[in-house]
Amino acid sequence: MAKKIVLLFILSTLVGCSGLERSEQKKVRQQNLTVSPIERQEDEVFFPFPEIKVQKRASYPWESKRIGAHLRITKEFFRCRGNVLNPPIQLHKYKKLVYHLDCGGIERHSLPIKDGREFIYPILIDLLNHIQEKTGRRVLITCGHRCPAHNLYSDASKGARSSKHLIGGEVDFYVEGFEENPTAIVEVLQEYYGATFQRSNRFSNGATPSWYNKEVAITLYHSHEGRDFDNDHPYPYLSLQALFDRESRRAVRFNWHQAYNGYLKN
Ligand SMILES: [Zn+2]
Repeated sequence: MAKKIVLLFILSTLVGCSGLERSEQKKVRQQNLTVSPIERQEDEVFFPFPEIKVQKRASYPWESKRIGAHLRITKEFFRCRGNVLNPPIQLHKYKKLVYHLDCGGIERHSLPIKDGREFIYPILIDLLNHIQEKTGRRVLITCGHRCPAHNLYSDASKGARSSKHLIGGEVDFYVEGFEENPTAIVEVLQEYYGATFQRSNRFSNGATPSWYNKEVAITLYHSHEGRDFDNDHPYPYLSLQALFDRESRRAVRFNWHQAYNGYLKN
C-alpha cells in the first residue's frame, strides 16, 4: 500500500511539473513575441494571372445523351425488371404446385455478358434510337433482358423458356403518341432498311404475321395478345427480335447456356 502511495506521489509530481513547464514556455514565447508589419516595395505588383481558356472537345455522336427531346437509348434501358417486392406466384413444377419468386432485378445480376462486357444486340438499340429520332417521340421499353427467374415469373408458358429476351436479343416496346398506331412504327423501320419486309407467322403465335428481313423480325401484339407480367398495359406493342449479328456475322439463335449462365449474379 505504502509503495502505491509513493508511486502515485511521484506520478502526480511529474504531471504537475510538465504542466508548469508548458505554462512557463508559453509565457517566454509571449515575452519574445514581436509583431512587425509586412514590408513591400512601392512598385511591387502581383504576377498577372493568365486567363485560361478551356477548349471544349466536340462530342462524338454516340456520346450525346439525347436525341432531340428524348434520352438516347442505351443498353441500360434493357436491364431486367425483376423485383424482390413482387409477390410470389404459384407454378406447376414436376406435377407439384410450387411458389416461384421474382428475381432481385438490377441489384442482383448483370445483363448478358459477351467478351467480358455487358451486351445487348446493337441492332435493337440502333433501331429504337432511329424510331425516336424519326418520330420525335419516346420509345418505352417494357421488356428488354430477362434473367431466367424473371422470365419464368413474367411468362411461365413453354414457348417463353427459349425467348431471346434471355440473351439480350429481343425487346418489347411501344411509342408514345403511337400507342394505337404501331404499324406506323413498322413503316419507320422499313424506311430505315429502304426495303420492304417479308411476312411470316413463324416468329410468333400472334394473329398478325411478323415483318422480317435478314437482320430483324418485328411482331405486333394487339391489346388482347401477348400479355405477360412485363406487358401488363392496355396498348398494342411491338416485339423486335435480332436474327443476324452484323459484327460476328452470325445468326442470332437462342442458346441455353448463354441464357441460363451467361450473366453475372451476386
Ligand atoms: Zn432478373
